[in-house]
Amino acid sequence: MTAQLNPRGDVAVLVPAAGAGVRLGPGAPKALRLLAGEPLLMHAVRRIAAAPSVHTIVVAAPATEVEAVRAMLAHVAPVTVVPGGAERQASVAAALAAVPAGPEIVLVHDAARALTPPHLVESVAAAVRDGHDAVIPVLPVVDTIKEVDATERVLGTVDRSALRAVQTPQGFRRPVLVAAHRSAADALTDDAGLVEKQGIAVTCVPGSELALKITRPFDLALAEHLLTTGA
Ligand code: C5P
Repeated sequence: MTAQLNPRGDVAVLVPAAGAGVRLGPGAPKALRLLAGEPLLMHAVRRIAAAPSVHTIVVAAPATEVEAVRAMLAHVAPVTVVPGGAERQASVAAALAAVPAGPEIVLVHDAARALTPPHLVESVAAAVRDGHDAVIPVLPVVDTIKEVDATERVLGTVDRSALRAVQTPQGFRRPVLVAAHRSAADALTDDAGLVEKQGIAVTCVPGSELALKITRPFDLALAEHLLTTGA
C-alpha cells in the first residue's frame, strides 16, 4: 500500500542513494541491493514515510536508474527522484535543489541505513524544531580506539568517552543546509561536517542501533536477522 505524506508537515527528507557500494562486493548499486527480497532503498523510504512530520521525500538515484527507482518507489510513497552526482555531496545538493517551498526542516538520510526507525526521524526533526540549527543522531563508541602510524605502530590511545559514532538522518534548518552546500569546498562524508565548517553549532541526540549503515556483507546478514525479529 502506498503511504501518504503529511501535507502540513514541516520536514523534507533527502535520501542520497546514488553510490556504487563497492564494499558490499560486485552487483547492483548499494541502495538497490536486496534485503529480504526488497531493495535497501525501499526499506529506507517506507520507514521515512511512516514518520508523521514528513512532507516531502527526495531520492537521488544512480543516473541510469532514475526511471526504475521512480517506478519502484511509486508503490511505497509519493517520492521525487532526481539523478545523483559523482560524490555523495553532489547527490545531496541535487536532492536539496528539488525540495519545494514549504518544509523548513531538512533531513539528510543515507539509503544504506535502511532499518532506521520512524521515531529517529521524528526525534532529529523535533530537536531542529526546538531551535537547533543542526542535529545529528549518535551512539557512544564501545571499542577502544588507537591512533596508529603508516606502519600500524600505535601512537596513542584516544579517550573514547569524548567520541561518538555518527548516524543519519542528520537534521538542519533549511537555510543552514542551503548555505553550507553553497559554500562547500571539499567533499566530506557527512552534511554536519559542512555546517561545522561554517562555524555553526551541531547538537547530538541519541541514535539507534537499528540505524546501522549496511556497508559490508556482514551488515546485510545482520539486517536480515533484525528484520526477522521485527525491525
Ligand atoms: O559510500 P557511502 O557508504 O558513504 O554512501 C553513503 C550514502 O550516500 C549511500 O546511501 C550512497 O548511495 C549515497 N551516495 C550517493 N551518491 C554518491 C555516493 C554515495 O548518493 N555519488
